[in-house]
Parts: sequence; C-alpha cells; structure tokens
Amino acid sequence: MKPAAFQYHQPSSVTEATDLLAEHEHDAELMAGNQSLGIVMANRLATPEHIVDINGVDELDYVDVATERVTIGALTSHRTIETSAALADALPMFPAAAEQIAGPSVRNLGTLGGSVGEADPAGNYPAVLTALDGDLHVASADGERTVAASEYFIAYMFSDLAEDELITGVSVDREPFPAERTGMAFLEQKPAAQTWPTISAAAVIRIDDPDADAPVVEEARLALANAADVPLRVEDAEAAVEGESLVEAPLASAADAASEAAEPGEEMHADAEYKEELAGEYTRRSLETAYERAVDTTDTTTP
Ligand SMILES: Cc1cc2nc3c(=O)[nH]c(=O)nc-3n(C[C@H](O)[C@H](O)[C@H](O)COP(=O)(O)OP(=O)(O)OC[C@H]3O[C@@H](n4cnc5c(N)ncnc54)[C@H](O)[C@@H]3O)c2cc1C
Repeated sequence: MKPAAFQYHQPSSVTEATDLLAEHEHDAELMAGNQSLGIVMANRLATPEHIVDINGVDELDYVDVATERVTIGALTSHRTIETSAALADALPMFPAAAEQIAGPSVRNLGTLGGSVGEADPAGNYPAVLTALDGDLHVASADGERTVAASEYFIAYMFSDLAEDELITGVSVDREPFPAERTGMAFLEQKPAAQTWPTISAAAVIRIDDPDADAPVVEEARLALANAADVPLRVEDAEAAVEGESLVEAPLASAADAASEAAEPGEEMHADAEYKEELAGEYTRRSLETAYERAVDTTDTTTP
C-alpha cells in the first residue's frame, strides 16, 4: 500500500517547524529518519494531511559532551551516536544502545528524536534515558520546556509530548557517573539480528573504590525495555545490589526483583512468562557486566 496524499513541508529552523505544527496542529506529523513513520503511513495506520520534514533543521543535529552535562540533538542519527568517541568516554550506554538498533540502513537514517518521539517501550533510548535519569527538551510556538524521562513516558506509545511540540534534544547530568569508577551496559535479547529486542536491560554501576579488593556498589541504575507498557525502572533491583560487593547473592535478588516487576505483553515468539524470565536474566547479566566495567574502566568493549 502507498501512503495517503499529504502536503509536504521542509522547515529549516526549529521556529519554522513549530510554527507549522501550531498552524496544522491536529493534522500534522513530524518526519525525521522516516524509519518508523514510513511503515505506519504506508499501511495507512497514520494519514496526516501535513508532513513536517525536519531533516533540514541542522541546529538539531549535534552531540555536546560538556563537563557537567551531555546534550544530544533530536536529529542526531543512531550511527552518529554509535560512533561518537566523546559519548563512548562520557556515557558509553548511548553508543552501546545505538549500535544494537536494527541494521546499518536504519541506523544511518533513524534519529534519537524519532525514537523518543514514538515512545515505543521496546525502544533503546527510552530505556537509556530512564536508567540515566535524562531530560527531554521540547519546543513549541509558545516556548520551550524540559521534562524528565521519568515523567515523559506515560503509557504504551503515549508520552507527555503535545501535538504542537517538537523534541529538540535530550540531556543527561554527568555528575552521578564519574568515568573512573562507573560501568555501563546495554544488553539485548533478540530473535534475529535486525529485529526489535524481546527484552533489553540498561544498567549502570558506580563503585566506591576500583582499587579495593572487593569494590562496593555505591549506586546502581537498572531500566528494562519491552518489559512493560513504558520503559521500566526497577528500583528494587537497584536496592538489591547497592552497598554490596557484587557477588552471586545480590545479583540473584536483583534478577528476582526485575522478574517480579516486569509486566510484559505477549509476543508471537515470546510469552509473558518467558519475558519475565528474560527480564531477570538480563538484569543479572547487565548489572554484572556494568560492575566488571566499573572495576576495570579500561574495558571499553561494547555493548
Ligand atoms: C527493522 C527495524 C528494526 C528496528 N529495531 C529497533 C530496535 O531494536 N531498537 C530501537 O530503539 N528502535 C528500533 N527501530 C526503530 C528505529 O530506531 C527508528 O529509527 C526510530 O524509532 C524512529 O526514528 P526516525 O528518526 O526514523 O523517526 P520517524 O520514523 O521519522 O518518526 C517516528 C515518530 O517520531 C515522531 N518524531 C520524529 N522526530 C521527532 C521530534 N524531533 N520530536 C517529536 N517527535 C518526533 C514522528 O512524528 C513519528 O511519530 C527499528 C526500526 C526498524 C525499521
């Protein structure tokens, strides 16, 4: 099937784009990489009268790794995030998550803003932003606002974004993640290389002293993708490993907590019980990997 007819707009600035959204509010759809929108429109599950193609809005395509915060523009492609050395140093979870999205053609075109805009609970960046306590920056013709990731994802593919708003970028505070004693991991289980994951786990571990014989976990973060209607932060799993030197018992408690917290939907190749098991197993693996990386920060192997 082909998409229904639409009027095509090519703004070259955020102001032009938000003016178009304000003018055509209920009938307009933003287009970024078109890797998800194109499928939905081709199947006529969406029939917007106006397409606002933001690919010419160059001000939204950037990665800024500053001392205190990392900010990434909405139009930044998965490929740029995957290959950013500055991000790999500061917040390696971003490149690890980006490199596991689909295949090269999707990663070359798909964007951070498109992924967060569609708010799929199976999406990689939604889980990353949930684990890292990120912020989303949003603009409309009325001005700008910032919303915490913890408040942005409201229900299945439904977010706090209004119809006349555009995501301009995301940011993450670096202070909780000192590189010399922090490890991050983004691990996925998928049925085939270029498909969406059955379960993904985004984990962060900050330890007290990498030179200690048995470094203790000062802070843990754990978020799961595709384990519920929204990206799922599992605070009970975090609490299970905090204050511990990471050995089998706390990891097993964290895994149990994640299985318990998961409320996954059924899929063709994975029933809910299997996904709950995976939620536990990938929690265990991702926390363990993050801990090992925190102890040995020279290990930059991704994911
Ligand atoms: C085969 C395949 C496998 C995939 N596997 C994965 C995977 O494993 N993990 C994963 O995370 N993703 C996966 N994806 C999705 C991929 O990441 C998409 O690129 C992404 O979800 C959408 O990005 P886009 O730039 O193409 O957005 P588009 O398709 O252009 O837009 C998607 C939606 O976001 C809105 N939007 C776009 N930009 C903005 C903005 N700046 N502000 C507000 N709303 C905006 C659009 O209006 C639209 O509703 C997969 C896609 C395919 C085709």
